[in-house]
Amino acid sequence: MNQLAIHNPATGALITQVAADDPVSVATKAAAARAAQPVWARVPIADRAACIQRFRAKVVEDLEALAAIMTTETGKPIQMSRNELNGFLGRVDFFLQQAVASTATETVFAEGGMTEQIEHVPLGVVANISAWNYPWFVGGNVFVPALLTGNAVLYKPSEYATMTGQAIARLLHAAGVPQDVFILIVGAGDVGAALQAQHIDGLFFTGSHATGARIAQALGPRMVKLQLELGGKDPTYVCDDADPKLAAESLADGAMYNTGQSCCSVERIYVHEKIHDAFVASFVQTVRGFKVGDPAAKDTYIGAITRAPQLDVLEAQVADAKTKGATLLCGGTRLPGPGNWFAPTVFNNVNHGMDLMREESFGPIIGIQKVSSDEETVRLMNDTRYGLTAGVYTPDEARARAILSQIRSGSVYWNCCDRVSPRLPWSGYGDSGVGVTLSTYGIQTFTRPKAWHLRKA
Ligand code: NAD
Repeated sequence: MNQLAIHNPATGALITQVAADDPVSVATKAAAARAAQPVWARVPIADRAACIQRFRAKVVEDLEALAAIMTTETGKPIQMSRNELNGFLGRVDFFLQQAVASTATETVFAEGGMTEQIEHVPLGVVANISAWNYPWFVGGNVFVPALLTGNAVLYKPSEYATMTGQAIARLLHAAGVPQDVFILIVGAGDVGAALQAQHIDGLFFTGSHATGARIAQALGPRMVKLQLELGGKDPTYVCDDADPKLAAESLADGAMYNTGQSCCSVERIYVHEKIHDAFVASFVQTVRGFKVGDPAAKDTYIGAITRAPQLDVLEAQVADAKTKGATLLCGGTRLPGPGNWFAPTVFNNVNHGMDLMREESFGPIIGIQKVSSDEETVRLMNDTRYGLTAGVYTPDEARARAILSQIRSGSVYWNCCDRVSPRLPWSGYGDSGVGVTLSTYGIQTFTRPKAWHLRKA
Protein backbone atom coordinates (compact mmCIF):
# COMPACT_ATOMS: atom_id res chain seq x y z
CA MET A 1 0.00 0.00 0.00
CA ASN A 2 1.14 3.58 -0.66
CA GLN A 3 2.16 5.69 2.30
CA LEU A 4 1.16 9.32 2.81
CA ALA A 5 3.66 11.35 4.83
CA ILE A 6 2.11 13.99 7.07
CA HIS A 7 4.26 16.94 8.12
CA ASN A 8 3.75 19.72 10.63
CA PRO A 9 3.91 22.90 8.50
CA ALA A 10 5.03 24.96 11.49
CA THR A 11 8.18 22.88 12.06
CA GLY A 12 8.64 20.80 8.94
CA ALA A 13 8.77 17.69 11.14
CA LEU A 14 7.29 14.41 9.98
CA ILE A 15 4.25 13.68 12.19
CA THR A 16 3.35 10.27 10.85
CA GLN A 17 2.93 8.12 7.76
CA VAL A 18 -0.51 6.74 7.00
CA ALA A 19 -1.64 4.08 4.55
CA ALA A 20 -3.03 5.75 1.44
CA ASP A 21 -5.62 4.41 -0.97
CA ASP A 22 -4.94 3.34 -4.53
CA PRO A 23 -7.31 2.87 -7.47
CA VAL A 24 -8.11 -0.72 -6.42
CA SER A 25 -8.95 0.11 -2.81
CA VAL A 26 -10.96 3.15 -3.92
CA ALA A 27 -13.04 0.95 -6.24
CA THR A 28 -13.62 -1.58 -3.43
CA LYS A 29 -14.76 1.19 -1.09
CA ALA A 30 -17.06 2.69 -3.72
CA ALA A 31 -18.69 -0.71 -4.27
CA ALA A 32 -19.20 -1.12 -0.51
CA ALA A 33 -20.84 2.32 -0.30
CA ARG A 34 -23.08 1.44 -3.26
CA ALA A 35 -24.27 -1.72 -1.48
CA ALA A 36 -24.81 0.03 1.87
CA GLN A 37 -26.64 3.16 0.66
CA PRO A 38 -30.16 1.76 0.03
CA VAL A 39 -30.25 0.30 3.55
CA TRP A 40 -29.20 3.65 5.05
CA ALA A 41 -31.83 5.46 2.96
CA ARG A 42 -34.51 3.24 4.53
CA VAL A 43 -33.41 4.11 8.08
CA PRO A 44 -35.97 6.66 9.38
CA ILE A 45 -34.60 10.20 9.28
CA ALA A 46 -35.10 10.49 13.05
CA ASP A 47 -32.64 7.60 13.55
CA ARG A 48 -30.14 9.06 11.10
CA ALA A 49 -30.43 12.37 12.97
CA ALA A 50 -29.83 10.54 16.27
CA CYS A 51 -26.48 9.30 14.87
CA ILE A 52 -25.49 12.85 13.94
CA GLN A 53 -26.58 14.08 17.37
CA ARG A 54 -24.34 11.46 19.03
CA PHE A 55 -21.52 12.44 16.67
CA ARG A 56 -21.97 16.07 17.76
CA ALA A 57 -21.71 15.03 21.42
CA LYS A 58 -18.46 13.17 20.67
CA VAL A 59 -17.01 16.25 18.96
CA VAL A 60 -17.84 18.28 22.09
CA GLU A 61 -16.21 15.63 24.30
CA ASP A 62 -13.02 15.50 22.20
CA LEU A 63 -12.90 19.17 21.20
CA GLU A 64 -9.48 19.96 22.67
CA ALA A 65 -7.83 16.89 21.13
CA LEU A 66 -9.48 17.55 17.76
CA ALA A 67 -8.32 21.17 17.80
CA ALA A 68 -4.77 20.01 18.56
CA ILE A 69 -4.82 17.55 15.65
CA MET A 70 -5.97 20.26 13.22
CA THR A 71 -3.37 22.72 14.49
CA THR A 72 -0.57 20.16 14.22
CA GLU A 73 -1.30 19.15 10.65
CA THR A 74 -2.39 22.51 9.18
CA GLY A 75 -0.51 25.12 11.26
CA LYS A 76 -3.81 26.83 12.17
CA PRO A 77 -3.50 28.83 15.41
CA ILE A 78 -5.05 26.78 18.21
CA GLN A 79 -7.68 29.34 19.17
CA MET A 80 -8.88 29.37 15.53
CA SER A 81 -9.03 25.57 15.55
CA ARG A 82 -11.28 25.77 18.62
CA ASN A 83 -13.37 28.48 16.92
CA GLU A 84 -13.82 26.28 13.86
CA LEU A 85 -14.95 23.29 15.90
CA ASN A 86 -17.41 25.42 17.89
CA GLY A 87 -18.71 26.95 14.66
CA PHE A 88 -19.06 23.45 13.23
CA LEU A 89 -21.34 22.50 16.13
CA GLY A 90 -23.63 25.41 15.20
CA ARG A 91 -23.78 24.15 11.62
CA VAL A 92 -24.66 20.64 12.81
CA ASP A 93 -27.46 22.12 14.93
CA PHE A 94 -28.83 23.99 11.93
CA PHE A 95 -28.83 20.85 9.76
CA LEU A 96 -30.48 18.83 12.54
CA GLN A 97 -33.19 21.49 12.97
CA GLN A 98 -33.92 21.81 9.25
CA ALA A 99 -33.38 18.37 7.70
CA VAL A 100 -36.90 17.01 8.22
CA ALA A 101 -38.81 20.13 7.15
CA SER A 102 -36.68 20.85 4.09
CA THR A 103 -36.94 17.31 2.71
CA ALA A 104 -40.54 16.44 3.62
CA THR A 105 -42.69 15.38 0.69
CA GLU A 106 -44.65 18.37 -0.64
CA THR A 107 -48.15 18.11 -2.06
CA VAL A 108 -48.25 20.91 -4.63
CA PHE A 109 -51.63 20.13 -6.24
CA ALA A 110 -54.70 18.09 -5.25
CA GLU A 111 -57.92 18.47 -7.27
CA GLY A 112 -60.51 16.24 -8.91
CA GLY A 113 -58.78 13.02 -7.92
CA MET A 114 -55.39 14.19 -9.20
CA THR A 115 -52.53 14.75 -6.75
CA GLU A 116 -49.06 16.05 -7.51
CA GLN A 117 -46.22 15.60 -5.05
CA ILE A 118 -42.50 16.34 -4.85
CA GLU A 119 -40.49 13.74 -2.97
CA HIS A 120 -36.88 14.50 -1.99
CA VAL A 121 -34.99 11.25 -2.51
CA PRO A 122 -31.28 10.87 -1.71
CA LEU A 123 -28.83 11.23 -4.59
CA GLY A 124 -27.24 7.88 -3.67
CA VAL A 125 -23.46 7.62 -3.30
CA VAL A 126 -21.75 10.98 -3.09
CA ALA A 127 -18.04 11.70 -3.23
CA ASN A 128 -16.67 14.60 -1.22
CA ILE A 129 -13.23 15.86 -2.20
CA SER A 130 -12.29 18.47 0.33
CA ALA A 131 -9.83 21.27 1.16
CA TRP A 132 -7.54 21.62 4.19
CA ASN A 133 -8.09 25.23 5.25
CA TYR A 134 -11.31 24.62 7.22
CA PRO A 135 -11.59 20.83 7.18
CA TRP A 136 -14.48 20.63 9.66
CA PHE A 137 -16.46 23.41 7.97
CA VAL A 138 -16.04 22.44 4.33
CA GLY A 139 -16.21 18.70 5.00
CA GLY A 140 -19.18 19.07 7.35
CA ASN A 141 -21.10 21.23 4.87
CA VAL A 142 -21.27 18.05 2.79
CA PHE A 143 -21.12 14.96 4.96
CA VAL A 144 -23.60 16.12 7.63
CA PRO A 145 -26.53 16.98 5.32
CA ALA A 146 -25.62 14.18 2.91
CA LEU A 147 -25.82 11.56 5.67
CA LEU A 148 -28.97 13.08 7.18
CA THR A 149 -30.73 12.86 3.81
CA GLY A 150 -29.85 9.19 3.28
CA ASN A 151 -26.75 9.24 1.11
CA ALA A 152 -23.57 7.19 1.50
CA VAL A 153 -20.46 9.38 1.54
CA LEU A 154 -16.99 8.67 0.19
CA TYR A 155 -14.99 11.36 1.95
CA LYS A 156 -11.53 12.32 0.77
CA PRO A 157 -10.05 14.96 3.03
CA SER A 158 -7.17 17.01 1.69
CA GLU A 159 -3.81 15.30 2.06
CA TYR A 160 -3.00 18.26 4.36
CA ALA A 161 -5.89 17.43 6.72
CA THR A 162 -5.85 13.65 6.74
CA MET A 163 -5.64 13.15 10.50
CA THR A 164 -8.71 15.35 10.92
CA GLY A 165 -10.46 13.18 8.32
CA GLN A 166 -9.52 10.07 10.27
CA ALA A 167 -10.95 11.61 13.45
CA ILE A 168 -14.20 12.50 11.67
CA ALA A 169 -14.58 8.94 10.40
CA ARG A 170 -13.80 7.44 13.82
CA LEU A 171 -16.38 9.63 15.58
CA LEU A 172 -19.10 9.12 12.96
CA HIS A 173 -18.68 5.35 13.17
CA ALA A 174 -18.62 5.42 16.97
CA ALA A 175 -21.87 7.42 16.80
CA GLY A 176 -23.58 4.67 14.82
CA VAL A 177 -23.11 5.65 11.18
CA PRO A 178 -22.37 2.29 9.48
CA GLN A 179 -18.78 1.71 8.34
CA ASP A 180 -19.80 1.48 4.66
CA VAL A 181 -22.11 4.51 4.75
CA PHE A 182 -19.28 6.92 5.57
CA ILE A 183 -15.98 5.79 4.10
CA LEU A 184 -12.69 7.62 4.38
CA ILE A 185 -10.52 7.80 1.27
CA VAL A 186 -6.92 8.72 2.03
CA GLY A 187 -4.47 10.30 -0.39
CA ALA A 188 -3.53 13.22 -2.61
CA GLY A 189 -4.75 14.36 -6.04
CA ASP A 190 -4.18 11.00 -7.73
CA VAL A 191 -6.49 9.35 -5.20
CA GLY A 192 -9.05 12.13 -5.74
CA ALA A 193 -8.88 11.39 -9.47
CA ALA A 194 -9.44 7.67 -8.77
CA LEU A 195 -12.46 8.56 -6.62
CA GLN A 196 -14.02 10.77 -9.26
CA ALA A 197 -13.72 7.87 -11.75
CA GLN A 198 -16.03 5.63 -9.66
CA HIS A 199 -19.75 5.05 -10.16
CA ILE A 200 -21.01 7.96 -8.05
CA ASP A 201 -24.23 9.98 -8.05
CA GLY A 202 -22.77 13.27 -6.96
CA LEU A 203 -19.39 14.91 -6.51
CA PHE A 204 -19.03 17.75 -4.04
CA PHE A 205 -15.67 19.46 -4.29
CA THR A 206 -14.02 22.23 -2.32
CA GLY A 207 -10.64 23.46 -3.51
CA SER A 208 -8.87 25.51 -6.12
CA HIS A 209 -10.32 26.62 -9.44
CA ALA A 210 -7.57 24.72 -11.29
CA THR A 211 -8.51 21.37 -9.71
CA GLY A 212 -12.24 22.10 -9.92
CA ALA A 213 -11.96 22.81 -13.64
CA ARG A 214 -10.08 19.53 -14.17
CA ILE A 215 -12.79 17.60 -12.33
CA ALA A 216 -15.58 19.37 -14.25
CA GLN A 217 -13.92 18.45 -17.53
CA ALA A 218 -13.63 14.79 -16.53
CA LEU A 219 -17.18 14.49 -15.16
CA GLY A 220 -19.00 16.50 -17.86
CA PRO A 221 -19.95 13.63 -20.19
CA ARG A 222 -20.93 11.38 -17.27
CA MET A 223 -23.91 13.50 -16.12
CA VAL A 224 -22.92 13.23 -12.46
CA LYS A 225 -24.26 16.01 -10.25
CA LEU A 226 -21.31 18.30 -9.58
CA GLN A 227 -20.84 21.08 -7.04
CA LEU A 228 -17.66 23.11 -6.99
CA GLU A 229 -16.77 25.52 -4.18
CA LEU A 230 -13.68 27.27 -5.42
CA GLY A 231 -11.52 30.28 -4.73
CA GLY A 232 -12.10 33.98 -4.50
CA LYS A 233 -10.51 37.42 -4.78
CA ASP A 234 -12.93 39.06 -2.40
CA PRO A 235 -13.14 42.88 -2.46
CA THR A 236 -14.23 45.34 0.22
CA TYR A 237 -14.88 49.05 -0.20
CA VAL A 238 -14.44 51.52 2.65
CA CYS A 239 -16.54 54.60 1.86
CA ASP A 240 -15.63 58.18 2.76
CA ASP A 241 -18.22 58.26 5.59
CA ALA A 242 -16.89 55.11 7.33
CA ASP A 243 -14.88 55.20 10.55
CA PRO A 244 -11.37 54.49 9.21
CA LYS A 245 -10.04 52.97 12.44
CA LEU A 246 -12.98 50.61 13.03
CA ALA A 247 -13.02 49.55 9.37
CA ALA A 248 -9.24 48.98 9.40
CA GLU A 249 -9.38 46.79 12.51
CA SER A 250 -12.23 44.72 11.11
CA LEU A 251 -10.63 44.34 7.67
CA ALA A 252 -7.16 43.51 8.98
CA ASP A 253 -8.81 40.56 10.73
CA GLY A 254 -10.80 39.71 7.59
CA ALA A 255 -7.62 39.66 5.51
CA MET A 256 -5.30 37.86 7.94
CA TYR A 257 -7.52 35.47 9.97
CA ASN A 258 -6.41 31.85 9.50
CA THR A 259 -3.17 33.33 8.13
CA GLY A 260 -5.15 34.60 5.13
CA GLN A 261 -5.94 31.04 4.08
CA SER A 262 -9.73 31.39 3.84
CA CYS A 263 -11.79 31.18 0.69
CA CYS A 264 -13.64 34.29 1.89
CA SER A 265 -10.59 36.19 3.16
CA VAL A 266 -10.64 39.85 2.22
CA GLU A 267 -8.22 39.88 -0.73
CA ARG A 268 -8.64 43.42 -2.11
CA ILE A 269 -9.40 46.65 -0.25
CA TYR A 270 -10.58 49.88 -1.90
CA VAL A 271 -10.56 52.99 0.28
CA HIS A 272 -12.04 56.36 -0.54
CA GLU A 273 -9.32 58.98 -0.96
CA LYS A 274 -10.82 61.16 1.80
CA ILE A 275 -10.01 58.63 4.52
CA HIS A 276 -7.33 56.58 2.75
CA ASP A 277 -4.32 57.75 4.79
CA ALA A 278 -6.06 57.37 8.16
CA PHE A 279 -7.31 53.92 7.16
CA VAL A 280 -3.87 52.75 6.00
CA ALA A 281 -2.19 53.97 9.20
CA SER A 282 -4.68 52.08 11.40
CA PHE A 283 -4.54 49.00 9.18
CA VAL A 284 -0.75 48.72 9.35
CA GLN A 285 -0.77 49.36 13.08
CA THR A 286 -3.31 46.56 13.58
CA VAL A 287 -1.34 44.12 11.41
CA ARG A 288 1.89 44.94 13.24
CA GLY A 289 0.11 43.94 16.46
CA PHE A 290 -0.69 40.41 15.22
CA LYS A 291 1.41 37.84 17.02
CA VAL A 292 3.19 35.50 14.63
CA GLY A 293 4.48 32.22 15.99
CA ASP A 294 3.86 28.76 17.40
CA PRO A 295 0.33 27.77 16.31
CA ALA A 296 -0.07 25.81 19.54
CA ALA A 297 0.36 28.97 21.67
CA LYS A 298 -2.94 30.44 22.78
CA ASP A 299 -2.18 34.05 21.81
CA THR A 300 -0.81 33.31 18.31
CA TYR A 301 -2.75 35.04 15.54
CA ILE A 302 -0.63 34.31 12.46
CA GLY A 303 0.32 30.65 12.06
CA ALA A 304 2.18 28.66 9.42
CA ILE A 305 1.48 28.53 5.71
CA THR A 306 -0.01 25.05 5.33
CA ARG A 307 1.31 24.21 1.85
CA ALA A 308 4.98 25.00 1.21
CA PRO A 309 4.45 25.76 -2.54
CA GLN A 310 2.19 28.69 -1.58
CA LEU A 311 5.28 30.54 -0.33
CA ASP A 312 6.45 30.81 -3.95
CA VAL A 313 3.06 32.26 -4.98
CA LEU A 314 3.24 34.88 -2.22
CA GLU A 315 6.84 35.78 -3.07
CA ALA A 316 5.97 36.14 -6.75
CA GLN A 317 3.01 38.42 -5.96
CA VAL A 318 5.26 40.61 -3.78
CA ALA A 319 7.93 40.85 -6.50
CA ASP A 320 5.34 41.62 -9.19
CA ALA A 321 3.68 44.33 -7.07
CA LYS A 322 7.02 45.96 -6.23
CA THR A 323 8.17 45.94 -9.85
CA LYS A 324 4.92 47.60 -10.92
CA GLY A 325 5.20 50.42 -8.39
CA ALA A 326 3.27 49.32 -5.28
CA THR A 327 4.42 50.59 -1.89
CA LEU A 328 5.34 47.90 0.64
CA LEU A 329 4.15 49.02 4.09
CA CYS A 330 5.10 45.95 6.10
CA GLY A 331 6.25 42.34 5.67
CA GLY A 332 6.99 41.18 2.15
CA THR A 333 9.25 38.23 2.90
CA ARG A 334 9.38 34.65 4.11
CA LEU A 335 10.22 34.27 7.76
CA PRO A 336 13.05 31.99 8.84
CA GLY A 337 12.17 28.30 9.22
CA PRO A 338 11.99 25.48 9.96
CA GLY A 339 8.48 25.21 8.60
CA ASN A 340 6.55 27.46 6.20
CA TRP A 341 6.31 31.08 7.34
CA PHE A 342 5.44 34.37 5.65
CA ALA A 343 5.35 37.79 7.27
CA PRO A 344 1.99 39.60 7.31
CA THR A 345 2.29 41.88 4.28
CA VAL A 346 0.51 45.11 3.37
CA PHE A 347 0.83 47.12 0.15
CA ASN A 348 -0.82 50.32 -1.00
CA ASN A 349 -0.54 52.17 -4.32
CA VAL A 350 -1.66 48.98 -6.01
CA ASN A 351 -3.70 48.58 -9.21
CA HIS A 352 -5.35 45.89 -11.30
CA GLY A 353 -2.25 45.44 -13.42
CA MET A 354 -0.75 43.55 -10.47
CA ASP A 355 -1.26 39.85 -9.69
CA LEU A 356 -1.83 40.87 -6.07
CA MET A 357 -5.16 42.44 -7.14
CA ARG A 358 -6.15 39.74 -9.63
CA GLU A 359 -5.03 36.27 -8.49
CA GLU A 360 -6.04 34.57 -5.25
CA SER A 361 -3.20 35.09 -2.73
CA PHE A 362 -4.36 32.65 -0.04
CA GLY A 363 -1.91 33.99 2.49
CA PRO A 364 -1.30 36.93 4.87
CA ILE A 365 -0.92 39.57 2.18
CA ILE A 366 -3.20 42.39 1.04
CA GLY A 367 -3.32 45.31 -1.37
CA ILE A 368 -5.07 48.60 -0.55
CA GLN A 369 -6.13 50.77 -3.50
CA LYS A 370 -7.21 54.42 -3.28
CA VAL A 371 -10.51 55.23 -5.06
CA SER A 372 -12.51 58.39 -5.62
CA SER A 373 -16.15 57.38 -6.28
CA ASP A 374 -18.70 54.62 -5.75
CA GLU A 375 -19.00 54.14 -9.53
CA GLU A 376 -15.28 53.60 -9.98
CA THR A 377 -15.23 51.15 -7.07
CA VAL A 378 -18.15 49.08 -8.33
CA ARG A 379 -16.30 48.69 -11.61
CA LEU A 380 -13.11 47.61 -9.82
CA MET A 381 -14.91 45.22 -7.47
CA ASN A 382 -16.50 43.47 -10.44
CA ASP A 383 -13.22 43.37 -12.37
CA THR A 384 -12.47 39.76 -11.40
CA ARG A 385 -13.10 36.25 -12.66
CA TYR A 386 -14.26 35.28 -9.16
CA GLY A 387 -17.34 36.23 -7.14
CA LEU A 388 -17.52 34.65 -3.70
CA THR A 389 -17.97 37.54 -1.24
CA ALA A 390 -17.81 41.34 -1.29
CA GLY A 391 -18.34 44.04 1.32
CA VAL A 392 -18.93 47.74 1.93
CA TYR A 393 -18.17 49.77 5.07
CA THR A 394 -20.37 52.83 5.54
CA PRO A 395 -22.92 53.94 8.14
CA ASP A 396 -25.38 54.49 5.26
CA GLU A 397 -27.38 51.30 4.67
CA ALA A 398 -29.06 52.63 1.51
CA ARG A 399 -25.67 53.43 0.00
CA ALA A 400 -24.32 49.98 0.92
CA ARG A 401 -27.35 48.26 -0.58
CA ALA A 402 -27.10 50.35 -3.76
CA ILE A 403 -23.45 49.37 -4.20
CA LEU A 404 -23.76 45.70 -3.21
CA SER A 405 -26.76 45.10 -5.45
CA GLN A 406 -24.45 45.82 -8.41
CA ILE A 407 -21.75 43.34 -7.33
CA ARG A 408 -21.60 39.86 -8.86
CA SER A 409 -20.99 37.93 -5.68
CA GLY A 410 -22.57 34.96 -3.88
CA SER A 411 -22.47 36.71 -0.47
CA VAL A 412 -22.38 40.42 0.32
CA TYR A 413 -21.51 42.12 3.60
CA TRP A 414 -22.41 45.47 5.08
CA ASN A 415 -19.92 46.55 7.81
CA CYS A 416 -18.64 43.01 8.25
CA CYS A 417 -16.50 40.51 6.35
CA ASP A 418 -15.10 36.95 6.26
CA ARG A 419 -18.36 35.63 7.70
CA VAL A 420 -20.31 32.45 6.93
CA SER A 421 -23.75 31.60 8.35
CA PRO A 422 -25.33 28.12 8.27
CA ARG A 423 -28.69 29.82 7.69
CA LEU A 424 -27.60 31.47 4.42
CA PRO A 425 -26.67 29.85 1.11
CA TRP A 426 -22.95 29.68 0.32
CA SER A 427 -22.24 29.98 -3.38
CA GLY A 428 -20.17 31.86 -5.91
CA TYR A 429 -20.30 33.56 -9.28
CA GLY A 430 -17.88 32.83 -12.11
CA ASP A 431 -14.72 30.93 -11.20
CA SER A 432 -15.80 30.77 -7.55
CA GLY A 433 -17.84 27.74 -8.51
CA VAL A 434 -21.26 26.21 -9.03
CA GLY A 435 -23.85 24.91 -6.58
CA VAL A 436 -24.81 25.76 -3.03
CA THR A 437 -23.97 24.52 0.44
CA LEU A 438 -25.48 25.62 3.76
CA SER A 439 -29.04 26.96 4.28
CA THR A 440 -31.99 24.76 3.38
CA TYR A 441 -30.74 24.82 -0.25
CA GLY A 442 -27.59 23.13 1.05
CA ILE A 443 -29.71 20.29 2.46
CA GLN A 444 -31.94 19.83 -0.57
CA THR A 445 -28.89 19.73 -2.82
CA PHE A 446 -28.15 16.20 -1.56
CA THR A 447 -31.56 15.06 -2.79
CA ARG A 448 -33.23 14.64 -6.14
CA PRO A 449 -36.73 16.09 -6.49
CA LYS A 450 -38.87 13.19 -7.71
CA ALA A 451 -42.20 14.14 -9.31
CA TRP A 452 -45.25 12.04 -8.40
CA HIS A 453 -48.40 12.28 -10.60
CA LEU A 454 -51.15 10.35 -8.76
CA ARG A 455 -54.64 9.83 -10.19
CA LYS A 456 -57.27 8.04 -8.12
CA ALA A 457 -58.83 5.22 -10.19
P1 NAD B 1 -6.69 21.87 -4.18
O1 NAD B 1 -7.49 22.11 -5.40
O2 NAD B 1 -5.22 21.79 -4.28
O3 NAD B 1 -7.14 20.49 -3.50
C1 NAD B 1 -8.50 20.24 -3.12
C2 NAD B 1 -8.73 18.75 -3.08
O4 NAD B 1 -8.65 18.23 -4.40
C3 NAD B 1 -7.73 17.96 -2.24
O5 NAD B 1 -8.40 16.98 -1.51
C4 NAD B 1 -6.82 17.35 -3.31
O6 NAD B 1 -6.21 16.15 -2.89
C5 NAD B 1 -7.82 17.08 -4.43
N1 NAD B 1 -7.26 16.95 -5.77
C6 NAD B 1 -6.13 17.51 -6.28
N2 NAD B 1 -5.98 17.18 -7.57
C7 NAD B 1 -7.04 16.39 -7.91
C8 NAD B 1 -7.47 15.77 -9.11
N3 NAD B 1 -6.78 15.86 -10.24
N4 NAD B 1 -8.62 15.08 -9.10
C9 NAD B 1 -9.37 14.99 -7.98
N5 NAD B 1 -9.01 15.55 -6.81
C10 NAD B 1 -7.87 16.26 -6.77
O7 NAD B 1 -7.14 22.99 -3.14
P2 NAD B 1 -6.65 23.22 -1.62
O8 NAD B 1 -5.26 23.76 -1.62
O9 NAD B 1 -6.94 22.02 -0.80
O10 NAD B 1 -7.66 24.33 -1.12
C11 NAD B 1 -7.46 25.72 -1.33
C12 NAD B 1 -8.48 26.25 -2.31
O11 NAD B 1 -9.78 25.91 -1.86
C13 NAD B 1 -8.46 27.76 -2.39
O12 NAD B 1 -8.58 28.16 -3.74
C14 NAD B 1 -9.71 28.17 -1.62
O13 NAD B 1 -10.23 29.42 -1.99
C15 NAD B 1 -10.64 27.05 -1.93
N6 NAD B 1 -11.70 26.94 -0.94
C16 NAD B 1 -12.96 27.31 -1.30
C17 NAD B 1 -14.00 27.26 -0.38
C18 NAD B 1 -15.40 27.67 -0.75
O14 NAD B 1 -16.29 27.47 0.05
N7 NAD B 1 -15.63 28.27 -1.93
C19 NAD B 1 -13.75 26.81 0.92
C20 NAD B 1 -12.44 26.45 1.26
C21 NAD B 1 -11.43 26.51 0.32
